[in-house]
Amino acid sequence: MKGQFEIKIPKFDFNYIGKKRKRTLSLRERQILYARAGGKCEACGRPISFEEMQVGHKKAYSKGGATTLSNAVCLCYRCNKLQGTDDFETFKKKMNGTYRKRNTAQSKRRRKRSRGPFEIEVPKFKLPF
Ligand SMILES: [Zn+2]
Repeated sequence: MKGQFEIKIPKFDFNYIGKKRKRTLSLRERQILYARAGGKCEACGRPISFEEMQVGHKKAYSKGGATTLSNAVCLCYRCNKLQGTDDFETFKKKMNGTYRKRNTAQSKRRRKRSRGPFEIEVPKFKLPF
């Protein structure tokens, strides 16, 4: 009987894993982030799908920003690329210059054209990439 129930457990350094900085949120965390952002990119305001969502960092990861819900922002692919290694606030300031204006002009044009025969707005999405 002795040793019958001995199970070999592989050595796992839990302390190391706990301290290791992760780059992405878990699925559950990303679902919360997406809901919190209202399904929109928090930088440009474009509605995005859950699959399209990119997790950005308020305080840049490269500058020691943690990958946690409180430090995360919901971004579209484009904005995440544009943000690069900037902090989110810095990135937003940069965006306010040119990108925002172009975006507003585009959405005005889109609204006029998108009226269907039933007077229902049909959003047409142009992928920027
Ligand atoms: Zn965006």
